Amino acid sequence: MINDTIINLLYILAAILFIFGLKLLGNAQKARKGNFISAMGMLVAIVAALVSHDVLQWQWIAIGMIAGAIVGALAARLVAMTAMPEMVALFNGFGGAASLLVGWSEYHRYVTVGDFMAVSVPSLLIIIVTIFIGGATFTGSIIAWGKLSEKLPSKAIQYRGQQLVNVLLLTFLLGTTVLFGPLREFVSIDSYWLVIITIVLSCFLGISFVIPIGGGDMPVVISLLNSFSGMAACAAGFVITNNVLIVAGALVGSSGIILTNIMCKSMNRKLTNVLFSGFGSGKGKGSGGFQGEANPVSVEDAYIMLEAASSVLIVPGYGMAVAQAQHAIQELATQLEENGSEVNFAIHPVAGRMPGHMNVLLAEANVPYEQLKEMDDVNPTIESVDVVIVIGANDVVNPAARTDEESPIYGMPVIDVDKANTVIVMKRSLNPGFAGIDNPLFFNDNTRMLFGDAKQTTQGLVAEFKG
Ligand code: NDP
Repeated sequence: MINDTIINLLYILAAILFIFGLKLLGNAQKARKGNFISAMGMLVAIVAALVSHDVLQWQWIAIGMIAGAIVGALAARLVAMTAMPEMVALFNGFGGAASLLVGWSEYHRYVTVGDFMAVSVPSLLIIIVTIFIGGATFTGSIIAWGKLSEKLPSKAIQYRGQQLVNVLLLTFLLGTTVLFGPLREFVSIDSYWLVIITIVLSCFLGISFVIPIGGGDMPVVISLLNSFSGMAACAAGFVITNNVLIVAGALVGSSGIILTNIMCKSMNRKLTNVLFSGFGSGKGKGSGGFQGEANPVSVEDAYIMLEAASSVLIVPGYGMAVAQAQHAIQELATQLEENGSEVNFAIHPVAGRMPGHMNVLLAEANVPYEQLKEMDDVNPTIESVDVVIVIGANDVVNPAARTDEESPIYGMPVIDVDKANTVIVMKRSLNPGFAGIDNPLFFNDNTRMLFGDAKQTTQGLVAEFKG
């Protein structure tokens, strides 16, 4: 066994690599490097953890590593970019499940091979906290995965007394924690049952916590669950006294909370409002029933508009990811620039289905980083833009968020594309987006609907430019 000082130095090295990697992930150009550096940190952490303990059975570790590597490699190769958010939700869930199992197995070890009553109260408390957060994260993330992949209805599901049920569940779980820890000498109930009940109830709490959240609020929940999975891992680190797991869990937990806060701010919502208001439950669908007709436009006519434009702003959304139109839109941007237009891309913080979704796709298509503008930077000058191309975006350009007090997204900042001179919206129909609400933008006089799959219509425009 290697000296503890060396192991701790390796853990510190791993933590430094994690932090450095995270820092680089904040910059689109350096994100790939950041990912690699963090992965190296994880390798150092795994090797240090394995050599620091008297590993009794290497074969189980080898089986776990091979199985994990196969699943990871297959997922990285086979999962489509559009399904990436669901995969992130699943990974969060598995992180929670792993922490739950760590807590449970440690408890099992105490009662079967150790002296349960000799175990300190803080150790027991941290076990129950690990089980509690891990279980709720596991099932909550599975529900989020179901909603994102549309295997479950994405709208909020609410029933009478829902908040009360959640409060009762929470109270019960906190009560168990006290019974299990400080009061264990005074209660005669078999505490193993208490642990099983805690597992079941925390899993139920995860479901009950996420089903009433729906529509446009899902990004916040995903990032909150991500944070929970970090906290569960951090608690698991205390359970098995592994310093690097504590640090890594704390990093995930805190960055998840920071991201949750950024998401709430960008949607102009309070976290409590997101968690308890039941977005999209059907309580407020906006005034709906828009008057007027949408104005369809052909590829040829859209080309004429773009050909004459001196400034073009491209606003991508989830539909661009579905159509895999990022390369085509990059080619169109190049054609427009060659034609003398100034071209920029405006990215809404919750466009797509995961934080940074659009940035990742556009970076993959080699769109220069300087062309990517944030919502707050484009909105003040959007009136001076000749043509806005909305490619597969819907909720994030819905002016009802500004104008319709009845709308469930009222108050959420959106990209004010309706204020530009002309808007070309590329989508297949007039159907709503993720939040399930109508979009009056499609019926505005200055909007032209270019119906069809975003990749095909963009390629059509590129072909027109190339003559
Ligand atoms: P939306 O989901 O509002 O709209 C996407 C639009 O794309 C649809 O209206 C659809 O219309 C169109 N579309 C789908 N496929 C194609 C295709 N092949 N070609 C052309 N168009 C297509 O997307 P936004 O990006 O505007 O908004 C994101 C929404 O997702 C927000 O409500 C946000 O809160 C939510 N969300 C965001 C997350 C995040 O972290 N970013 C996570 C979870 C949810 P049609 O069917 O007519 O083609």
